Amino acid sequence: MVEAKIRLYLGQTLGEGQTVRLDADQAHYLFGVMRLGTGDALLVFDGVSGEYLARVADAGKRTGTLSVGVRTRPLQPPPDLWVLFAPIKKARTDFIVEKAAEMGAARICPVQTEFTNAERIRRDRLQAHAVEAAEQCGGTFVPEVTELERLSAVLDAWPRDRRLMFCDETCAGAGLGLDGAETGPWAILIGPEGGFSDTERARLAAMPQARAVSLGPRILRADTAAVAALTLWQSRLGDWS
Ligand code: SAH
Repeated sequence: MVEAKIRLYLGQTLGEGQTVRLDADQAHYLFGVMRLGTGDALLVFDGVSGEYLARVADAGKRTGTLSVGVRTRPLQPPPDLWVLFAPIKKARTDFIVEKAAEMGAARICPVQTEFTNAERIRRDRLQAHAVEAAEQCGGTFVPEVTELERLSAVLDAWPRDRRLMFCDETCAGAGLGLDGAETGPWAILIGPEGGFSDTERARLAAMPQARAVSLGPRILRADTAAVAALTLWQSRLGDWS
């Protein structure tokens, strides 16, 4: 086995020389599924201080410990970008969370719009998808997935200094509408399959922080739109350049 191929997110702040006790799920994954044994190496990260080389100190069926060695990478946080999206069907919602975590979102916020079909979400499951995406893609940061909130309430409390890339399907075919000079905190907003209501569109149009943007001449499904919007934002305003 290649040394330290496995990457594991640990939800506690790590430091060199620490001993970490594993919970039952982590022990099952490392020793039952991945077949690691005492002395084997893996990479661990905490989303706060970076990534470390660790070794299995003790491997049990439902428990175990790791000793944390040298820090291999510092934390590499994404730009200050939130992704707001209206939850759709389960597999497509999972996809949006996974891709937003991979592509560099700082926070992922499911929002209930007027035409959103989903009444509730499983926040813990979505958070686990964000963790898995970071583990698999070499990330050192895990975006927080927030609870489902009404879009109107989110906009009521909208921070004055955070710009909003409002992906408006009625702009399809118009110019992109993003000014690469407007740096700073941002959020992307993607609507549900039914699109935004006229009330929501009017409210967003009146917000000085909002920029209505087009994602090209075709109407995209919400999951595709999320990836397209992240790509555009990251290439114009994010850390891809
Ligand atoms: N049912 C709607 C489309 C909704 S698409 C209609 O037929 O008009 C789902 C979401 O993806 C939209 O709310 C929007 O946020 C985004 N989206 C899809 N295509 C887009 C485009 N070409 N430009 C801007 N946003 C788009």
